[in-house]
Amino acid sequence: MIVIIGAGAAGLLAAVAAVRRGQQVGIYEKMQRPGIKLGLAGGGRCNLSNSGDLLAGLNNCQFLRPALARLDQAALKHELAAIGVATTVDHWGRVYPQAMTGQELAGHLHSWLQSQGVRFYLHSPLTNIQTGNGKLEAVEINGKAIPCSRAILACGGKAWPQTGSDGGALTVLAAAGHKIVPLLPALVPLRTKETWPLQLQGISLKNAAVTVTANGKKLDGARGDLLFTHFGLSGPAVLDISHAAAKARHQGQPALIVIDLLPHMSREEICQSLEKHAQKTVGNALSALLPAQLAKMLGGEKYIKGLAPTTLNQLAGELKAVRLEIADVLGRQAMVSQGGVNLRQVNPRTMESKLVSGLFLAGEMLDYHGRTGGFNLHAAFATGWLAGENA
Ligand SMILES: Cc1cc2nc3c(=O)[nH]c(=O)nc-3n(C[C@H](O)[C@H](O)[C@H](O)COP(=O)(O)OP(=O)(O)OC[C@H]3O[C@@H](n4cnc5c(N)ncnc54)[C@H](O)[C@@H]3O)c2cc1C
Repeated sequence: MIVIIGAGAAGLLAAVAAVRRGQQVGIYEKMQRPGIKLGLAGGGRCNLSNSGDLLAGLNNCQFLRPALARLDQAALKHELAAIGVATTVDHWGRVYPQAMTGQELAGHLHSWLQSQGVRFYLHSPLTNIQTGNGKLEAVEINGKAIPCSRAILACGGKAWPQTGSDGGALTVLAAAGHKIVPLLPALVPLRTKETWPLQLQGISLKNAAVTVTANGKKLDGARGDLLFTHFGLSGPAVLDISHAAAKARHQGQPALIVIDLLPHMSREEICQSLEKHAQKTVGNALSALLPAQLAKMLGGEKYIKGLAPTTLNQLAGELKAVRLEIADVLGRQAMVSQGGVNLRQVNPRTMESKLVSGLFLAGEMLDYHGRTGGFNLHAAFATGWLAGENA
């Protein structure tokens, strides 16, 4: 009998893999139903994978290599199809269930597993694990010991704790000797010290290039859509680099976000484009390149014909490096957490803890995190799958 703790993405796929091997499985889940976060993912549509380079979308990808090799996109598609879940890929490579919402997917996995004899114990939180001589002996659910020699912990990270993943299970693992890399927000909107972005709320910029720097050092960069909000900045490009801002701030380093508003144009090209509109104000001329409100705010009312070439060149340079100080990361809105169980203590080929034999770990509770676009769910499925095959 394999005990699985946590019926999220990783736990549910671990159960599917274990069932395939003919194993008996019992799943303990602290919430009232399985897969609550799956129901929220991708705005309800559940962006469950990505057809692009998975390794490029995930931090700590060396550790994840064997799991991603075992359950790559084709294998995930195949395994999901085998249990009645067809998938589809959109124009940007994001993979979704073809005819189900995320909530329906969670419900489908629940009933398929039940049909295979898997028992679900809901409202059943893990409170401790018991070990002896480096081996798993029991898991404690609500304080009651359940003897077992093989268990998979897939309790998630700390993002959106109202969905059940509140980081509590990591305290249990720490008590059993595991090192926990501090949990910090990732895929999280940013609040800027400057207030002018707030006036642009609702405006989105296609294909910006954003970089996070601290102490003059580039920490990470991404390209994609950027959204101005009522608190600062969001959108895929900002979310993708937000982990670096969260880490820098956690280490007490002031972090900056530097935005190239026109990454597809050189400084010279921007100047040439503006010079074509000599009779217009800079703000109006820039409206051909940027959303009008942003263009007017950055360009102002001066006429292009009155500007010296060096001033125009300087302006072009500023458009390619808008610097904003990060005042805060909005942790409560983080979609995933970074940090978790130190990967050196986990065997990447099996997901078994190197400290406690018989204890397997999967999903976001491990110290990896990914970009937007389905990478996080794919990693949860793949690590869960590997654990389910090896436990
Ligand atoms: C709003 C939102 C949208 C997202 N959208 C996407 C997306 O479109 N694509 C994508 O790839 N990623 C997305 N993510 C991230 C993705 O959902 C997670 O990375 C993924 O769900 C992690 O899977 P997991 O199984 O490790 O953890 P979870 O899905 O968090 O599951 C952990 C499970 O363990 C249970 N649990 C926790 N502690 C205990 C305990 N002590 N005892 C028993 N059970 C416990 C929890 O209740 C939960 O059911 C999104 C996240 C959020 C919050």
